[in-house]
Amino acid sequence: MALNMEQNAADGWAATDGVIARKLFSQGYSFTYDDLIFHPGHISFAADDVDLRGRVSRRISLRVPLVSSPMDTVTEGTMAAAMAALGGIGFIHYNNRPEEQAAQVVRAKRIRPGFVVDPVVFGPRATIKDLDRLKETRGFSSVCVTEDGRVGSKLLGVVTSRDTDFVPDRSTELSDVMTSDVITVPSKCSREEAEKILIQSKKGRLPVVSSNGELVGLMVRADLKKALAYPARGEPSLGPDGKILVGAAIGTREDDKERLKLLVAAGVNVVILDSSQGDSTFQLNMLNYVKKNYPALDVIAGNVVTVPQARRLIEAGADGLRVGMGSGSICTTQEVCAVGRGQATAVYQTAKFASTYDVPVIADGGIANSGHIVKALALGASSVMMGSFLAGTEETPDEYFMKNGMKLKRYRGMGSLEAMSKGSDTRYFGDKSVLKIAQGVSGAVADKGSVMRLIPYTMQAVRHGFQDLGIKSLKEAAQRLYSDETKMEVRTPAAQKEGGIHDLVSYEKRLF
Ligand code: 5GP
Repeated sequence: MALNMEQNAADGWAATDGVIARKLFSQGYSFTYDDLIFHPGHISFAADDVDLRGRVSRRISLRVPLVSSPMDTVTEGTMAAAMAALGGIGFIHYNNRPEEQAAQVVRAKRIRPGFVVDPVVFGPRATIKDLDRLKETRGFSSVCVTEDGRVGSKLLGVVTSRDTDFVPDRSTELSDVMTSDVITVPSKCSREEAEKILIQSKKGRLPVVSSNGELVGLMVRADLKKALAYPARGEPSLGPDGKILVGAAIGTREDDKERLKLLVAAGVNVVILDSSQGDSTFQLNMLNYVKKNYPALDVIAGNVVTVPQARRLIEAGADGLRVGMGSGSICTTQEVCAVGRGQATAVYQTAKFASTYDVPVIADGGIANSGHIVKALALGASSVMMGSFLAGTEETPDEYFMKNGMKLKRYRGMGSLEAMSKGSDTRYFGDKSVLKIAQGVSGAVADKGSVMRLIPYTMQAVRHGFQDLGIKSLKEAAQRLYSDETKMEVRTPAAQKEGGIHDLVSYEKRLF
């Protein structure tokens, strides 16, 4: 009897210790990730045992539930290939001509980790002056020379600075200075074999050639040295054809149907219907069109933040939902249009509803650290889409530039005036408007190195977060969330301050 009373008392305390999601998110507040903090759970497993397998759409699972955003300063072929190599997926932006976007899909699928698939190549009549110019713009001056100066043509030789350093006449043609006796590997050679040959050769570059002697790729010593320092990547995301998974975004206009046709021909695995407010007749029509004409292709619709929006898209056949409105780091939608939702509330509400249809939700935007990823996944998201978190990495489009002693890369909202002037205004229903209104800004972010380093470390931090929650997988996270076991609280401004770094005169913040 006494024991029962004690048990009841303990249960009573437990019931009032923290808040369950159902209660928290039904009070009329728009919460974002930083507003919330989870209660820790019981740890009975190692962080390495946490299984973060997620989904991006009904039929596409990811070993690493991270997705790169279809933005023109984030995802082209290189980023898409890197995200897939890491077990995630990238969506190639469509702020370009349809043929250019399709070419990026093809390029991403051709990329083999460890190899450069589109190296800079010169023809035999190019001069040392051309190499000098390359050194100025790209920082290197060792290149392959092929018959017609392109990849895919017969390899004639290799030129390095050792061949050209002391040649006073810079108009000398490369055919006169190049080394023709070159160590190469056949295109069938595995990455491991090629690495071994490159190391043994003591050369800076190892050309990869077809059986006819045509240049098809390159392995670079400096890249190999860097790659050997990256953490192990694990299994890549592969499609049914054995090639890496690549996604792409399209709009909802009539001419996007032609774009889609090219993307499908290029081998795209999944498409996003890209709109900042996805609950529109345009999107429903496009969704119907894609489902009818390409039944094997998964279609992700959005963006949505409420249950009625989610319902309309799911009922129209969406295979996944992209969730977030106004949460992006470069986004001014909430300020300009007064519409949107705090990202934590948006993710919880839409994911809970979508889970009843087994439709995965991608939490899109507002990710600034690994804790935000933990929160998005623990609130029901099946994967997380990022723009700013990946901006500034080596794999994004564009070159780095220096400003005030810092190495930076451009990062801009697709609703910024700058991006819209290139065509992305369809996302904001602005392409037919006489007066363009920006819903995003354009800026720059600091160099973050390679995603090959950033993502594995970030995911390890996320695994530690799940371990602290006492949750071993995304599936278990959803079960606990919807059975009211997951407890959380709102952080007061003082609690947020306390939860951050404080009271130090100086410090250096590094995650890894
Ligand atoms: P981030 O990861 O930088 O916080 O957010 C990226 C997300 O912001 C994108 O995936 C996209 O949904 C959204 N986004 C991108 N550009 C803009 C923009 O200019 N305006 C708005 N409202 N959202 C944007």
